[in-house]
Amino acid sequence: MNAIGVDIGGTKIAAGVVSPEGEILNETRYPTQAIPPNRLIETIARAIMEVREGFEVDGACLAVPGFVLTAKNKVIFAPNLHEIENIRLDEEMGRRTGLGVTVENDANAAAWGEFRFGAGKNVDHQVFVTLGTGIGGGVITHGVLLRGAQGAGGELGHVTIDPAGPRCGCGNYGCLEALASGTAVERRAREVANERPRSALGRLAIERQVLGEDVTRLAGEGDEAAISVLEETGVWLGIGLAAFVNIFNPEVVAIGGGASRSGEFIMGPARKEVQLRARSPSRDLVKIRVATLGPESGVLGAAALARGEDGKYVLDPSRRVA
Ligand SMILES: [Zn+2]
Repeated sequence: MNAIGVDIGGTKIAAGVVSPEGEILNETRYPTQAIPPNRLIETIARAIMEVREGFEVDGACLAVPGFVLTAKNKVIFAPNLHEIENIRLDEEMGRRTGLGVTVENDANAAAWGEFRFGAGKNVDHQVFVTLGTGIGGGVITHGVLLRGAQGAGGELGHVTIDPAGPRCGCGNYGCLEALASGTAVERRAREVANERPRSALGRLAIERQVLGEDVTRLAGEGDEAAISVLEETGVWLGIGLAAFVNIFNPEVVAIGGGASRSGEFIMGPARKEVQLRARSPSRDLVKIRVATLGPESGVLGAAALARGEDGKYVLDPSRRVA
């Protein structure tokens, strides 16, 4: 049966009707900025009703950035989305839409999307890391989405990588997010631009604010300063990934989000670091791949989770690794 995935982000709300095979049959988007602060719940409900028009669906799942108690279908903390905090979203949305509605952390939903339809579709064990403004994560082991006791598990972005590192948005110092997110790339680019003012990166920084995509572009044009920023980011990322490989022994690590577009400048050093730091046999098995679904992973994963398939989805034994 089809189900609806709703990806609630800082810039847009995307709702899609998704078939069991992972095809988006219908989709709608609302810019979050245009929604009055007290109309968020109403707008999510409207997006669900609009997108389901003419389709048979048997449930919806909301993918929300922030701290989510999956078991209670509650969002405890969501930056800029305070209207949906601390209420029973399953009841609230169920009453408005007539559907069974669940709630999931957005990175967990995206991880499930990649696991079912993307970079991890042929495996039972996958770690997903998304490099955006922050770093989100999701872990699937034996075909089960790892949530932990409160549904708050899988926060891979807030593992401490360097105790003396920069301050993280969470208040801690030296988290993976503080060292390898898009925001971290921009911070480090400013520092390197100051140190190397005659590099292309340095010259651009004098003209205007340098964005993550500028660093990727300049690296592609051969600017050593920009390349060094991305390589350093890749090393930090790889140190984190090596830990995840040691802990979870995944078959696939999928890297999503905007920063994954910087390609081998980040991924190359990250892979090298995993080979140096993770242990055999885990490091020999793991494939570190760029995620394949792009920004649709949240909608696809949320819809698949709305079907309640988590934990029921494992490969045919003949396709498993020994
Ligand atoms: Zn943190």
